[in-house]
Amino acid sequence: MRVGIGSDVHPIEPGRPCWMAGLLFADADGCAGHSDGDVAAHALCDALLSAVGLGDVGAVFGVGRPEWAGVTGAAMLTEVRRLLAEEGFEVVNAAVQVIGNRPKIGPRRAEAQKILGELLDAPVSVSGTTTDGLGLTGRGEGIAAIATCLIAACS
Ligand code: MG
Repeated sequence: MRVGIGSDVHPIEPGRPCWMAGLLFADADGCAGHSDGDVAAHALCDALLSAVGLGDVGAVFGVGRPEWAGVTGAAMLTEVRRLLAEEGFEVVNAAVQVIGNRPKIGPRRAEAQKILGELLDAPVSVSGTTTDGLGLTGRGEGIAAIATCLIAACS
């Protein structure tokens, strides 16, 4: 078994669709970025890639890979799961925490856990927190996420 850790931060772009943890939140501004700005999905991808030693989201999906521009977090997670399988690993479980004022994760936690769990074929815990008004997330300038995972060699 191996553990992994990942994090991500993106600036909020007023008016941009808010994709977070695989869900579209109609009542919040989304994040700017090369992809759909789903920092929860990106942090999970980084955690999984780190666990298997395949680098990071920037290397796999970054600006040097224009074919991935605008890609959804769901598509990225699907690709990372495929890369792990190629290396002989499957996901045991994963957890991600979204740090920011909006969107509010709590009311849609079950939905987020279901969609991310289906994408990774493993339990995924989703939580949210704020920084009590401090820092870039507290000022509403951006959204951050941190994730961890456990993977195992395929049986
Ligand atoms: Mg990112």
